[in-house]
Amino acid sequence: MNLLIMGPPGAGKGTQAERLVKEVDITHISTGDMFRAAIKEGTDMGKKAKEFMDQGALVPDEVVVGMVKERLSKPDCEKGFLLDGFPRTLEQAKSLDETLKDLNIKIDGVINIAVPRERLMARLTGRRICKDCGASFHVMFNKPKEEGKCDACGGELYQRSDDNEEAVGKRLDVYEQQTQPLIDYYTNQGLLLEINGDQDINKVLDDVLAAVKK
Ligand SMILES: [Zn+2]
Repeated sequence: MNLLIMGPPGAGKGTQAERLVKEVDITHISTGDMFRAAIKEGTDMGKKAKEFMDQGALVPDEVVVGMVKERLSKPDCEKGFLLDGFPRTLEQAKSLDETLKDLNIKIDGVINIAVPRERLMARLTGRRICKDCGASFHVMFNKPKEEGKCDACGGELYQRSDDNEEAVGKRLDVYEQQTQPLIDYYTNQGLLLEINGDQDINKVLDDVLAAVKK
């Protein structure tokens, strides 16, 4: 089974991806890990990517797709894989399709963990950090024992500026703009598996498993 997984920041995509690959025994390919491994191993594409990164430049799509191709060619992908964090744009999705064609690989489904925007806002703006020791809390999911105070050291808790509503709103806007064409693209191919991510994480996993096993 070859799958892709998408989801906005705060949707819990990472958690679901980790649990899904264990349940169905496929290889988890997160783009971050893939980058680090390719650079460490010094693959052709890893070397190219490093050149761009050393210059502080964005790694171009063709190099990222090249890296995905190298990764999907490895034997551990024969049992199936879950590609996580890629593609992010329609252009990348189209390049990925070309690559998959070259490799004679077919995608069986694209999981989209959907959560209403106001719920994402609540999740993403709820983080609080201790001024003194850096410990992290959440006003909904990981409440400190006493409001505004660190459990570990008693320090004052604050909200980082990139966790405020405006910054989070911008992040979600960018995600939506990039992703909507991608959602349409996979919907038109009959591959999109829309999952309600606004429920208990075990229930989300159940829904994901039911959808991919269909
Ligand atoms: Zn503290």
